Amino acid sequence: MKSKLGFNSQVIHAGGQKDQWGSVVTPIYQTSTFSFRDVEHGAALFAGEEDGYIYSRFCNPTIADLENTIAEMENGYKAIGCASGMAAVSVVFTACLSAGAHVVAHNALYGATLTILGTIFKKFGVESTFVDTTVLDNVKNAIQPNTKLIFLETPANPTIGICDIQAICEVAKQHNITVCVDNTFCSPYLQKPLDLGADIVLHSMTKFINGHADIVGGIVVAKNKEEYDRLLPSMRNLGFNMDPHQAFLARRGLKTLGIRMERAQENAGKIAVFLENHPKVKSVLYPGLPSHPQYHLAQRQMSGPGAMISFELKGGFEAGKTMMNSVELAVLAVSLGGIETLIQHPASMTHSKLSKEAREKAGITDGLVRLSVGIEEMEDIIADLEQALGKS
Ligand SMILES: *Cc1c(COP(=O)(O)O)cnc(C)c1O
Repeated sequence: MKSKLGFNSQVIHAGGQKDQWGSVVTPIYQTSTFSFRDVEHGAALFAGEEDGYIYSRFCNPTIADLENTIAEMENGYKAIGCASGMAAVSVVFTACLSAGAHVVAHNALYGATLTILGTIFKKFGVESTFVDTTVLDNVKNAIQPNTKLIFLETPANPTIGICDIQAICEVAKQHNITVCVDNTFCSPYLQKPLDLGADIVLHSMTKFINGHADIVGGIVVAKNKEEYDRLLPSMRNLGFNMDPHQAFLARRGLKTLGIRMERAQENAGKIAVFLENHPKVKSVLYPGLPSHPQYHLAQRQMSGPGAMISFELKGGFEAGKTMMNSVELAVLAVSLGGIETLIQHPASMTHSKLSKEAREKAGITDGLVRLSVGIEEMEDIIADLEQALGKS
């Protein structure tokens, strides 16, 4: 029955284990450890011969409910809940890489992902090549004999560039390279990378999956048992685990993912057109606009264009700053994917540490503004952007 359910039914009913009292919602199992019936029971749990819980760093029923649900949504084998999106990224890197290994990654990734590859993992002998993965030949040319992982983010942050997951996975298979997709900007509602050939998918659940800007969390989904068995020890032993209360909130937020995404996306589509026609806006990057460089790929790969828009102001850096200081409804903050509209200016905020040259190479121009469209009334968001643009 479950496999035949549509997204909004599945997202509500999947995963759940029934507790002994018939609680409709999986409770918060606020415990660090679980008692064994006897020595034999403990031994069977440690040997993996019996299902059950040992210690909350390994797993916990509240976390398992969330993991099982997201594994189902992504058509994966199993999922691994993590303390944050970056903990999820760290699980993948520590599990898939070792000294002497090489990574091919997109050049406009989430800032902290770029940072850890370039500093921490570099310190442990991992080499990385950052290329514009929206061009397939760039990926092919970057592959070396020691390439172990291709790490993609699509749409990417903050340039909204889209890469062809299926085509890249076909190339990776020929070289026996693992492909991991950071699916945060889409959520499983809009894109299922495992169905397109990826081996691993991950999310910052802080964003669309939880959707209410009240927790930080992450998750990794493995396509099969072999991949899961490779990833799991990193989470368990390095302590990248979630907390049961955090998992409870993420599970609650997840139940409305479909309707939140529909509404935010509907708003975003109209806002993108408004921006594209505004005299102070030079260009708009939104997968739903025919002007997007990968518009046709987006139509094929994603079931909708999502709720993230980047646009460039004609007035450059100063106009970006003025706009940030002028918005009233939109919240000036980093992060994304919540019910509230958030706005930020990468050149003066998230990517200010990069040199102007490095920013421009990655497509992050001085006048670029990133908008995470929320589920407020579309007319109110447009009115706010209109008045703020008027001052910029
Ligand atoms: C936010 C984000 C991350 C990091 O997630 P945290 O939950 O903040 O640790 C990784 N990738 C993308 C695309 C993100 O937006």
